Amino acid sequence: MIKVGDIDITILNESTIRSDTGGMFGLVPKTLWSRYYQPEDDGLLIVPHHCLLVRAGGKTILVDTGNGTKLSEQQCERLGLERPEGTLVENLARYGVEPEMVDLVINTHLHGDHCGGNTHFDEDGRIAPVFPNAEYRAQRLEYADAAFPNERTRGTYFAENFAPLYESGRMRLLDGETEIVPGVRCVITPGHTRAHMSLVFEQGGQAAFYPADMAMLAVHFEKLAWMTAYDVEPLVTLESKRYWQQWVREHDALLIFNHDGKIPTGRLAEDEKGRLIVEPALVGGGLHLGTVKK
Ligand SMILES: [Zn+2]
Repeated sequence: MIKVGDIDITILNESTIRSDTGGMFGLVPKTLWSRYYQPEDDGLLIVPHHCLLVRAGGKTILVDTGNGTKLSEQQCERLGLERPEGTLVENLARYGVEPEMVDLVINTHLHGDHCGGNTHFDEDGRIAPVFPNAEYRAQRLEYADAAFPNERTRGTYFAENFAPLYESGRMRLLDGETEIVPGVRCVITPGHTRAHMSLVFEQGGQAAFYPADMAMLAVHFEKLAWMTAYDVEPLVTLESKRYWQQWVREHDALLIFNHDGKIPTGRLAEDEKGRLIVEPALVGGGLHLGTVKK
């Protein structure tokens, strides 16, 4: 568990997929990225989906909900989806959290791998919230982009993950930066999507930063020019990263990465040539190695 003042943060791995490296590294050639990450024998990279269980200000908060359980067998197969630690609900149970106990669910954005676990099929096969007492929160502009996708973005925005929640009044839309509870702040880090959010945790002189998909992997955070092919506005991502690199340096914040099984937590440091690098950080008595082989 990660402690930031009185805030407790636990990283949960909701699922892993086998990802195309072209998506993960975009224009960066394999000769460069393979110094940092090794693909599996089939050329694909095992990518975890971390969700955060946050206990702060007397609230139980979930940041992102992963792919969820509504995908068909065929979709799971296409993604190479596995659940090495069980479903999100099973993951939470291990920490003594039942779905009814979750007060807030924050979706950093509404891509299917970040809000798929918002809803599930109930016993009658109907879409229902997984967390029946929770208020769900997402950015208003993100919701608009998700509700009215275009030819490029429609492959990842699935209305069943968010529309029933908004329509039933369970999802509250945010307009820009918002303090969720004292010490936990949603900030706008555009680029991956227009209203993408990252999370800032700050208390008692300590700080942590969860970039979400502004930097899926640690190497994306250390190298401004490296970004995924999924970003809708890559040059905006670059400027978001430039700002938050600086912020993380100034606050010596712990970094928590969303899709990095090798370096799930790290700290920004300088190498012998003065270049910024992310050094793996030990938290809670060990490195969270997730379930990635290499
Ligand atoms: Zn993602």
